[in-house]
Amino acid sequence: MANKEKGFIKNGDRFRGEHRTYRGEILAALIIIVIVIAIAFRVNQIFYGFDNPQITPAGTSNAGKDEGAAKPPAGFRQSPDWKLMLVNHDHPLEKDFDGELTELRYGQSVDSRIYPDLQEMFDEMRENGLSPRVVQGYRSYSEQENRLRSKISEYMSYGKSKEEAERLALQWEAAPGTSEHELGICVDISSETGENASANEVWNWMDENCWKYGFIKRYPNNKSQITGVRGEPWHYRYVGAEAAEEIMKKGITLEEYLGAVPVK
Ligand SMILES: [Zn+2]
Repeated sequence: MANKEKGFIKNGDRFRGEHRTYRGEILAALIIIVIVIAIAFRVNQIFYGFDNPQITPAGTSNAGKDEGAAKPPAGFRQSPDWKLMLVNHDHPLEKDFDGELTELRYGQSVDSRIYPDLQEMFDEMRENGLSPRVVQGYRSYSEQENRLRSKISEYMSYGKSKEEAERLALQWEAAPGTSEHELGICVDISSETGENASANEVWNWMDENCWKYGFIKRYPNNKSQITGVRGEPWHYRYVGAEAAEEIMKKGITLEEYLGAVPVK
């Protein structure tokens, strides 16, 4: 932009002289203002203008702010308890993670406050003959931004328009600021072997026992209308033992537990 400005001012110089006029400068300034507004609008549209698209089957339109779409409930307030912080499309993070991280065996990190319970749960699973592995823990805002960008590029490389590519990419990647991974208190779990069968065993064990260690299955298959995210059997989130027991035993979601179910 700086170079462009210089260029325009130079052109403006041509009007200087006997009949000095600022037409060039004014025109240049107007063009720059229009470009800046257009860029700002576009960036905003890419990252904040799309709504709850993860549950939309490809080829259909779903924008949360459209008429008839789900909206966040009026009156919901975030809990002051860090374990119960709700992060989803309607409730983006207000600031970047600034806590302490603990690095895990394969390079992933989690909020240090959940580490003891996570370790205990993994120890228990290993004693039961399972071999769990954290494949994704904390993710920064910019990592999330990059993931979304590369997904958009991927769709564009298949010939999709930019708009369509963005819509499709958002079915797989959360907009930056709205991924629970940016909180550092959730984990995607697979097995050491990477085999589906052994990953399934790990998830089955988790579904039965995770609440004992303060974790919940965050995106059950049958709750995507509430969570806004397709079923993710691998994604578990820390909420603390008390909330986890109630959520898992009642078979509800964090949104339901917190009274934050989107309303039509
Ligand atoms: Zn996840």
